Amino acid sequence: MPTKCAIPIKYRTENLDEHIRKFYIEYQESDVWKSAYGSHFLYCLQFWNKPFNIVTSDDFKNLIAVLKKNNAPDTVKNYISSISSIKSYFINKQDPRFPSGFLDGIEKEKIIGNPSDAEALTLAQLAEIRAFFKDIKNRSELISEYIFELIFQLKIEKKGIMSCAPQMADKDRRVFTIEDNEIQYNEKIAQLIEKNSEGFEDKWKPGRIDTSLKHITKHLSNWNKSRDLKYNDIVESHRKYVIQCPNCPNKAENLADNWVLVRIEPENNYRLVCSECKGRRI
Ligand SMILES: [Zn+2]
Repeated sequence: MPTKCAIPIKYRTENLDEHIRKFYIEYQESDVWKSAYGSHFLYCLQFWNKPFNIVTSDDFKNLIAVLKKNNAPDTVKNYISSISSIKSYFINKQDPRFPSGFLDGIEKEKIIGNPSDAEALTLAQLAEIRAFFKDIKNRSELISEYIFELIFQLKIEKKGIMSCAPQMADKDRRVFTIEDNEIQYNEKIAQLIEKNSEGFEDKWKPGRIDTSLKHITKHLSNWNKSRDLKYNDIVESHRKYVIQCPNCPNKAENLADNWVLVRIEPENNYRLVCSECKGRRI
């Protein structure tokens, strides 16, 4: 059985110069800490090899150029989001080392999504796919379901799919580790991991994405395109149906069971938060 050995971040910070590391530690100890952002931050600090407060827009552009060369657009976007969020944290706490214009406009580096013929699933199509999953008969179909949900629920990149087999999951923390990034997974994926706890091992190949989606297409009576479902169709569907909880890192599908309404004061109105946040402090 393949195993994944992730080196805890705390060990990876040890080689950083103390003046650089302190920014990482400060963010890590903040109440806005997110491990996925932290992992990006650490990579960026290593790349820049200078304290965060003296990183310039040109340094940032150099980083993005390297990332774009070696990563998919979504990964680059994720890095930009992480650094944008971390710089806002330092600026917002009115840290004199970080003036309000620090790394201004870096969000513009985000790549505009590549135009393609990708098409999100309609409600009827999604319902048909789920009906097929309920009726699954064999292991190959279980893999198709799992791969579909990885992309649909979490927008896992193609090259990361191999790292998200059920046996790779850190079940206690509900995360997959893809290269240096930790991807939090939701209740739906947790359920599928339980269902497929023996893992898929040798039957799991990267080309399985296309095979899985082709197989799923056959069960769609109302897919009027002259091609099979593609990875990007599922990514578009993720954007259409999966929502970020405003109160926690959880992302969940827009199914009623996943969401609750909570009263927000003093706004005196109700907002949706994920059902895992029910009873939690807002
Ligand atoms: Zn939540």
